Amino acid sequence: VTAADRTVVIGTGVAGARCALELRALGYSGEVTVIGAERHLPYERPSLSKGYLSGTRGVSDVLVAPASSYEDSGIQLLLGRSVTAVDPASRRLTLDRDAEMTYSNVVFATGSSARRLTCMGAESPGVHVLRTIDDADQLRSDASPGSRAVVIGLGLIGAEVCATLVERGLEVIAVEPDAAPLQRLVGVQVGARLAALHAENGVELLLGQSVHAISSAGERTDVHLDSGASIGCDLVVTGVGALPQTALAIRAGIPCAEGILVDATGASAVPGVFAAGDVAQAYVAHRAAALRVEHWQAAGRQGRSVAQAVVGAESGEDDVPWFWSDQYDIQLQVLGWPDRDARTVVRGDLEALDFLAFQVREGRVVAVSGIGRGRELRRAANLIRTGAECKDAELMDVGVDLREMGTPHRSKRP
Ligand SMILES: Cc1cc2nc3c(=O)[nH]c(=O)nc-3n(C[C@H](O)[C@H](O)[C@H](O)COP(=O)(O)OP(=O)(O)OC[C@H]3O[C@@H](n4cnc5c(N)ncnc54)[C@H](O)[C@@H]3O)c2cc1C
Repeated sequence: VTAADRTVVIGTGVAGARCALELRALGYSGEVTVIGAERHLPYERPSLSKGYLSGTRGVSDVLVAPASSYEDSGIQLLLGRSVTAVDPASRRLTLDRDAEMTYSNVVFATGSSARRLTCMGAESPGVHVLRTIDDADQLRSDASPGSRAVVIGLGLIGAEVCATLVERGLEVIAVEPDAAPLQRLVGVQVGARLAALHAENGVELLLGQSVHAISSAGERTDVHLDSGASIGCDLVVTGVGALPQTALAIRAGIPCAEGILVDATGASAVPGVFAAGDVAQAYVAHRAAALRVEHWQAAGRQGRSVAQAVVGAESGEDDVPWFWSDQYDIQLQVLGWPDRDARTVVRGDLEALDFLAFQVREGRVVAVSGIGRGRELRRAANLIRTGAECKDAELMDVGVDLREMGTPHRSKRP
């Protein structure tokens, strides 16, 4: 197949889908083809560990857009198909079954895959990861109320899975090497409060502990810890991070570090090659660095930004990353660039789950997490973007409007 002007998007996650839809919204008149290895219409993953896993939401509730949106705007979806090679010199790509296609622009929106444990027995039956709808379907069908689950890793996905499974009536034991859940994102102090929340809701937490091996016999699985203890269970869920899917881009000779290196608009150094979403490591002006973000909001925004770059429109706003996490009846939100070594300064009442916790480094706010104060949390975006110096007393004072704080010191930012 050849075409004078065709943009091919690889990946049907939120970044790929938003890119394609935005191209049409901007009046792009070339062909738009979106190729995705999964057989589902483009969908959003956040619900997979929340409502979709609990069964309160179905596939149609998690779609980026209904099928008609693609049909009506003449976007060709090739689902259940994988791109196996890209040749930027000839602007040609290869799909499985040896099909070939030319392009004028190609967008890598290949996302991440679930990182797997590497210990002995990690591939045993009964050990789940959670990245796709198919993973969530399998987990839900195995997670019968009354059974016992071990969740390994208390990052964003592991913590949400604990909450959903315990609410579903499972006995849940969580194993985490750090001292607290979500410690990498929210720090130890907020993490400790989240640990108490999980314990109050019935999750047994084994913190500061690592898994050494997994074994299975028939229906039963055993998780063996470094401490020498073993936990027998019916199923295991691992939430130990995600890996950007850069292999295709690396083989194509596109510059990659942790992710595919792109400028603020999503353009790589290779003509006609763009990247968006989890796989992109995009330049962020206010950090003066190329950084990878694994959040739903950033993926959608970057997808739209690439579409703007393709049509030559204004693109690449200097965004501060933001994500949310639903656990039990609370919603945690995090804004900015979490930093393990930052100090925590709390505004509000951490114990009552009504707070903002600022992560402060060298007198500047780098990130903020919070529960029950979403609007106020968003007001910290400018403090983070400008790297303004802040006084602890003002951060702690609920009477001080975050939009009015600090003086910008662009050149002094850490
Ligand atoms: C269970 C779960 C819960 C989450 N909850 C939250 C949350 O609460 N808040 C939040 O902000 N973020 C959350 N996230 C993260 C968020 O979903 C991701 O940041 C987002 O999905 C990234 O979108 P993406 O389009 O870049 O990539 P992905 O969603 O990973 O999509 C990439 C797609 O590309 C396909 N693909 C890869 N290689 C090829 C190829 N060679 N050929 C064809 N197709 C290919 C993949 O199969 C996949 O379908 C969650 C993620 C998960 C898994």
